[in-house]
Amino acid sequence: MSAIDDLPPLRDVIRRHDLIARKSLGQNFLLDLNLTARIARAAGPLEGVDVVEIGPGPGGLTRALLAHGARRVVAVERDERAVAALAEIAARYPGRLDVIAGDALAFDPRPHLSGDQARIVANLPYNIATALLVSWLTTAPWPPWYDRLVLMFQREVAERIVAAPGSKTYGRLSVLAGWRTQARILFDIAPSAFVPPPKVTSSVVELIPRQTPLACDRRTLERITEAAFGQRRKMLRQSLRSLGSDAPALLAAAGIDPTARAEDIPVDGFVALARALAEATR
Ligand code: SAM
Repeated sequence: MSAIDDLPPLRDVIRRHDLIARKSLGQNFLLDLNLTARIARAAGPLEGVDVVEIGPGPGGLTRALLAHGARRVVAVERDERAVAALAEIAARYPGRLDVIAGDALAFDPRPHLSGDQARIVANLPYNIATALLVSWLTTAPWPPWYDRLVLMFQREVAERIVAAPGSKTYGRLSVLAGWRTQARILFDIAPSAFVPPPKVTSSVVELIPRQTPLACDRRTLERITEAAFGQRRKMLRQSLRSLGSDAPALLAAAGIDPTARAEDIPVDGFVALARALAEATR
């Protein structure tokens, strides 16, 4: 482990604060400072950037983000033991680390940001990772308040986020992510890098917001993908019947083959369907 600052080793922090990992909080800590530095570097130049971090835990990634030059880190953490441990980092970087004790699912970082550039970088708690991503992808207004997301997920979730049409993992999350962002997997991290090791490989994913996504109503798009992928093996003329609209007419208006299945339809096809549904129910 290489030193990135003069703070105590993370194992020492964990021992002193009795931070034995809790499964209920999705706690798998990254203690290898080379890896946390790699994630911070993957988040791009951080000078002048306010970083929002979810679940800093003992602070390995937090330290890397600060050492890498983040103007400020706003970190939200639910575990009181970790909040106490993070106070040492805040003292080492005066005025640059705000730790908010609370639930990330109910947290709006916007009032805590003061600069004009913000980014979300996190090793997410796996039990709420998808819910958090969906909340960031559906935020209003768009373009959003952040310029990039650099997030760690279980490999299986990362594959769903970046999946292309025709693949088995292509689904609602791929359409939402592809509609509003350009997403790609940057690199994998083996279970052995964490304490305790999770059962599966993790992946770091980068999502860059599209400045002008194809125009359509987000909720209507979600209704369409819910109906289409809810019965993904069925032809669309059948699966879209649950929308309560004339499915063949919607498909015709969107220029889509009624015998196609959800997993064959690219993002712009779903957008065309959402527009047709909005038009039909106007
Ligand atoms: N960032 C640390 C690291 O890389 O070692 C810890 C990552 S660990 C996978 C997830 C962290 O999220 C834990 O510190 C956990 O306490 C925290 N957490 C879990 N649920 C949370 C929630 N609802 N709101 C805020 N933090 C949460």
